[in-house]
Amino acid sequence: MSQQGFSWPVAFDPVTRTWVGRDSPAAVLVPELAGQLVCDESSLRWAAEDFGHAVHRRPRAVLRPGGVADVAAIVEFAGKTGLSVAARGSGHSTYGQAQTNGGIVIDMAKLNLVSDVRADRVTAQAGARWSDVLDATLAAGRTPAVLTDYLGTSVGGTLSVGGAGGTSHQHGFQVDSVEELSVVTGTGRLVTCSLRQNRRLFDATRAGLGQCGIIVSATLRVIPAASRVRRYRLQYRDLTTFLAAQHHLINHGKFDFVQGQIFPAAPGVWQYLLEAALYYMPPGTPVDATRIDGQDYGTIADEIDDISYRDFAHRMAPGEAALRDSGEWSYPHAWLTVVLPSAATASLVGEILARLTAAELGQSGLVLLYPIRTDRLHTLLTRSPDSKLAWLFALLRTASVDNPADVAAMIEANRVVHDRAVACGGVTYPINSVPMSAADWRIHFGPRWRQLQAAKEEFDPHGILTPGYGIGTHSAPHCPKPIG
Ligand SMILES: Cc1cc2nc3c(=O)[nH]c(=O)nc-3n(C[C@H](O)[C@H](O)[C@H](O)COP(=O)(O)OP(=O)(O)OC[C@H]3O[C@@H](n4cnc5c(N)ncnc54)[C@H](O)[C@@H]3O)c2cc1C
Repeated sequence: MSQQGFSWPVAFDPVTRTWVGRDSPAAVLVPELAGQLVCDESSLRWAAEDFGHAVHRRPRAVLRPGGVADVAAIVEFAGKTGLSVAARGSGHSTYGQAQTNGGIVIDMAKLNLVSDVRADRVTAQAGARWSDVLDATLAAGRTPAVLTDYLGTSVGGTLSVGGAGGTSHQHGFQVDSVEELSVVTGTGRLVTCSLRQNRRLFDATRAGLGQCGIIVSATLRVIPAASRVRRYRLQYRDLTTFLAAQHHLINHGKFDFVQGQIFPAAPGVWQYLLEAALYYMPPGTPVDATRIDGQDYGTIADEIDDISYRDFAHRMAPGEAALRDSGEWSYPHAWLTVVLPSAATASLVGEILARLTAAELGQSGLVLLYPIRTDRLHTLLTRSPDSKLAWLFALLRTASVDNPADVAAMIEANRVVHDRAVACGGVTYPINSVPMSAADWRIHFGPRWRQLQAAKEEFDPHGILTPGYGIGTHSAPHCPKPIG
């Protein structure tokens, strides 16, 4: 039993803001569902958690949809009752982005079908994980052009923020490969949108932080998949050579994948690891493979191996298993990702690394730094620096599980780095453990703010969708207050 004694609420009273019985005079009845709306303690607790373990907003109920119609029906019900709604994909947000205080969380993982794999496209329900999409497309010799490093994120979860990976220097973000979306708007209407059809909704939904609709399925462009990968792991002693090498590799143009990582090697000493990959299909060999050795790129050490494309795509799996074994996977995480203009990258990253200690990054903490060509980013709400070449810079901090002050200090430190990045012409990649006000979001969206605001008023007139970012685009009376 849970809130007001109901495990399966049947009606809501918008005045007293409680679940009530079917016969209560002011009741708005919960619609008939193929799935279930539940409010038992363990479901509410689950929905108030995420990968960050730093923010906990408790909803009033969780929808486990039996189909797309349930999503539409519950959003319509929420509009009538003023309950906020947040879609939850696989819950890898780190700062409550998929949570709602007193509203309804929709467990999208229930909608995870991947279907209709063709030579150039695939359709996936939004709750499918990228590993599901990859399995289905590889069976047909195809792959999404951009995969996130970790394949446990959901299609809806990354399309609502962007979706960056080591092939983004060539193919942009995952949102740039979307052909068509099915979206439930804030009034519970199911709408198909694309560049040719309902374009305003399409533009407002891709990288739209769930403000204007809940994605229920996406048709994504796919490309032929290689079966093998030649992987180069090149080590560097200093930031300047590391940046120059990555720049050189993407200019070289033959590398399919380029990504840099930075680890603490000793107090005050950083180790720089460049991972570059060439995809190929035997009996062919990777283009230029024999000519690319570590010496050409000024490395201090290198390692080259050949693995299957599937194993390469799942390269985080052994690390994840080890962190799950040690328990660190469920420690608090305070992550920050920004995208920096090329001209400011060396000095800003150098300044940050000079001050950062291994303890401030945490036990399994890691820094990412890799290039993105901004001319490959075509999605209206994706923000990028005013610079042809930009660098994705991420501080992936893991806090101690014993000391709550640790994660709070990391979040505060993230804010400082975030502000430095923005002051240098950088932009936030919107998945961060950083408190953001409506004013911050207005600055973030810049010239796109008005379009987002207009779209919000059009597609989410009750202002109920995805309150976890605290964007506050809406002026309608129902608008839930940004939650800090
Ligand atoms: C281990 C790890 C590795 C990562 N690697 C990468 C990476 O390589 N590249 C990268 O870009 N990001 C990466 N991320 C960040 C991750 O992609 C984002 O946090 C993403 O939003 C998480 O997806 P999710 O399915 O877990 O979403 P959730 O946390 O469930 O939701 C994220 C946001 O999307 C909204 N949302 C979810 N589903 C929908 C939907 N169907 N319609 C509309 N809105 C929806 C939620 O309400 C919430 O606001 C990584 C995160 C982790 C924890």
